[in-house]
Amino acid sequence: MSSPRVAIIGGGIVGLATALRLQHRLPHTKITVFEKEPAVGRHQTGNNSGVLHAGLYYKPGSAKARLAVNGIRQMLTFCQEHSIRHEICGKLVVATDPAELPRLHDLHARGQQNGLTGLHLLTPEQIREIEPHAAGLLALRVPEEGIVDYQHVCDTMVALLRASGAQVLTNTPITKIEPTWVLNGEHQADFLINCAGLHCDRVSALAGERRNARIIPFRGEYYLLKPARQNLVNHLIYPVPDPSFPFLGVHFTRLIHGGIEAGPNAVLAFAREGYRWSDVSIPDLWDSLTFPGLWRFLVRYPSMASYEIRRSLSLKLFCASLQRLVPEIQPADISRGGAGVRAQAMLPNGDLVQDFLIVEREKALHLLNAPSPAATASLAIGDEIVDRIAARLT
Ligand SMILES: Cc1cc2nc3c(=O)[nH]c(=O)nc-3n(C[C@H](O)[C@H](O)[C@H](O)COP(=O)(O)OP(=O)(O)OC[C@H]3O[C@@H](n4cnc5c(N)ncnc54)[C@H](O)[C@@H]3O)c2cc1C
Repeated sequence: MSSPRVAIIGGGIVGLATALRLQHRLPHTKITVFEKEPAVGRHQTGNNSGVLHAGLYYKPGSAKARLAVNGIRQMLTFCQEHSIRHEICGKLVVATDPAELPRLHDLHARGQQNGLTGLHLLTPEQIREIEPHAAGLLALRVPEEGIVDYQHVCDTMVALLRASGAQVLTNTPITKIEPTWVLNGEHQADFLINCAGLHCDRVSALAGERRNARIIPFRGEYYLLKPARQNLVNHLIYPVPDPSFPFLGVHFTRLIHGGIEAGPNAVLAFAREGYRWSDVSIPDLWDSLTFPGLWRFLVRYPSMASYEIRRSLSLKLFCASLQRLVPEIQPADISRGGAGVRAQAMLPNGDLVQDFLIVEREKALHLLNAPSPAATASLAIGDEIVDRIAARLT
């Protein structure tokens, strides 16, 4: 193929990073990114915690571990080269209960196995030197992690892509894909890359795939520390994740443009882009509720599901989980902030797909699970995608 046309569906950070890596490595390709919203990065990418994850949590050998460790280095280089605000401020993972201590040691070992450097355990006195208001029996310091402005990253990627001849079409939802390939009856492509985030399973179905895994939207809600109490947190304070629950637990994050966020929790969203309880989409809800995997998941975690709903509706309960990390914090110190919705792939047996999930076809590649840390790892994911498809585009 002399100049293969590559269509990338989804102008989130992963679609854009993939376009950038493709443009760089195979400059003869003609790339078009299709984004349904008026601007890029409006969904998961623009509503996340803004944390640069170094690969601490992920199973050694998994794609998440490999691509996060490599991805944070690539993202840092990208930010340095393009003057994007970021800061490597380090993170503390804090054990507040004796039962969490073995898990914290496991996390330490896992981080070392994944190749993180500078990890060390801190006593309560040492914790207070870094975070004077944090409680903790023991903490793991992760010095390589930090914070960044992912929206600025996306805007920079768009500028670079356009400057080198790629197209980024906003306000262009892809609603029809004819084999192989005509999009919306007008855009022809030789190769399709699906990075559609919260809609990736539906886009794959448009391209003729069976939806084995289903995207289940889990909203993560944030609170903000009021300005007078922002002194309670210096950097990033995380709990030790509970392995019987699928998410990391609410934590404190300093934002790159100022302010401290607390969250996110994890409640089932009634719409794939359901940022509030009142956002309800009947087709989206139907899609979730008719999926047997969701019921199996809810049966497996009944107490978590009801606790998450109660905590979402009660500022006091939300504050109580924050008090485990910073005991001084009071309900009057926080106010409601924004929310993001995680595109989490679930299997029919109720298991959450833990790793990144890529499905390859002769003329298509579908990224069917790209939850956290995919923003950090986006450039490394882009490289991985190009590695997999390059031979078919030359
Ligand atoms: C609450 C929360 C906190 C998180 N915190 C972090 C963090 O601190 N650090 C980190 O690394 N990761 C974090 N993540 C994960 C991270 O945000 C995501 O993994 C990453 O943004 C995924 O990027 P994406 O491009 O795949 O998806 P998205 O950003 O969702 O982009 C997909 C795009 O596809 C577009 N699209 C969908 N369907 C179509 C269609 N039919 N036609 C055209 N366009 C379409 C959408 O409009 C969207 O812009 C967090 C996620 C959430 C929700």
